Amino acid sequence: MKYHIVQLGCQMNISDGERVQKTLDKMGFEATENEEEANLLGVIACSVRQKGINKVYSRVSKWNKWKHKKNLITFVSGCVLPADKDQFLKLFDLVFNMSDLSELPTMISQYGIVSPAGMQTLDSGFEDLDYSKKKSINPAEFRLLNVEQEKKKSSSTLVKNENIEEFWHIIPKYGSGFEAFIPIQNGCDKFCTYCAVPYTRGREVSRPSTEIIRELENLVNLGYKSITLLGQNVNSYGLDKNGDEINFAELIEIIGQYGDKLEHDFWLYFTSPHPQDMGNDVLEVIAKYKCLAKQIHIPVQSGDDTVLKSMNRNHSLEKYRSIIKSIRRILPEATIFTDIIVGFTGETDEQFNNTKKIMAEFKYNMAYIAQYSVRPGAVSSKWEDTVDKETKKKRFHELTEELVKTSLEHNKTMIGKTYKVLVRGKDRKKGYLSSLTEGKLIVRFASDDESLIGEYVIVKVNSVVAFSTEGELIQTLSDK
Ligand code: SF4
Repeated sequence: MKYHIVQLGCQMNISDGERVQKTLDKMGFEATENEEEANLLGVIACSVRQKGINKVYSRVSKWNKWKHKKNLITFVSGCVLPADKDQFLKLFDLVFNMSDLSELPTMISQYGIVSPAGMQTLDSGFEDLDYSKKKSINPAEFRLLNVEQEKKKSSSTLVKNENIEEFWHIIPKYGSGFEAFIPIQNGCDKFCTYCAVPYTRGREVSRPSTEIIRELENLVNLGYKSITLLGQNVNSYGLDKNGDEINFAELIEIIGQYGDKLEHDFWLYFTSPHPQDMGNDVLEVIAKYKCLAKQIHIPVQSGDDTVLKSMNRNHSLEKYRSIIKSIRRILPEATIFTDIIVGFTGETDEQFNNTKKIMAEFKYNMAYIAQYSVRPGAVSSKWEDTVDKETKKKRFHELTEELVKTSLEHNKTMIGKTYKVLVRGKDRKKGYLSSLTEGKLIVRFASDDESLIGEYVIVKVNSVVAFSTEGELIQTLSDK
């Protein structure tokens, strides 16, 4: 029996999807890219934009039309707002919070008849499976039970993460053999006004550090070379445990010490930290250890204090400036990436110009610039979207021009230098491979040796444009 999953949204959803896939693989299902040959169809939803949620509705209405001719079970999980959840319960067979993933096998096996032909064929595939956590839910009642549970939950708008620890125990089916993400926390306590994550993922919960380190050591032993600690606010890691867990600086220090003892290398990244919780302790630890990558992604969102306030970012521009200064002082070789929203509700020309000024001042290597759009469920969705589309587009292009300048300026300093890079795949340019430096800058080089993918090599940079560089292969480094 085959399954097909539609994954929408950010790295967090992709990481969650890897655990969903592993759960289904363990049940004996086989993944397929072709949704038409699957009997189990699922969506990992994203509520960041209405467009994403519309995609979920269109997919499930197509799948539901197939039900009269084949046996199908549909499910949805991921970032789902309470209002959409109520609708999804009418459209999908199974709707669950990601933290309840460990119950998915029970839900599927006990779901019962979903089409006139019944699910006998599907049931037969479950015979040899180990349901150590099997709970006795009457299939006929499952859906009703869920509706009742969801009705109760709708009185509270926040998702509860009671089973998140069980979710983290599931070993994911990593999408790559050399790059992996490790979730270290779930949820968010920050409540930025443009964002619905606290309502879809609930409050911040930190994963036990022992488990994080175990997962990391396992990946490193398997030869993974780029590992990213993932969370909505990684640097507030541990704070929800009131002293019963180490903090983020301590977590990466343990990883740094572990990396120092190894004979082979890996690079550890994290995303995203929040400026409010970013202290020099984290930067000082990164400076000490070779495996802690010298690349910092620190979202600024706006260069104007009034806009930051209306976004409820809980820090001033001055605080952010002090972080950038610390990065430049403690980690002079680090590349700096950011996220910016242009055209947020009420953003004036003058306020936008303040953002433009910080682009020139902070000289980012990369900025992910978004034109503000109303995000359903977020606080700002109740406010008038005052900046018109054309203005947003214009501001987007102006910031991109600034970014092109700073990226190019930095990349020019790379010419003639050699870099250790991780080869990630074939480049769009024929006969070339694409790689990333430790600072996540792109270097393409001429080679058709695909055995280098997933390996470190040394390249010399010969020419650059904004956002990417081109070089030549100097040396291969296989440390497998
Ligand atoms: S910090 Fe803000 S933007 Fe990030 S997940 Fe939390 S509420 Fe959303």
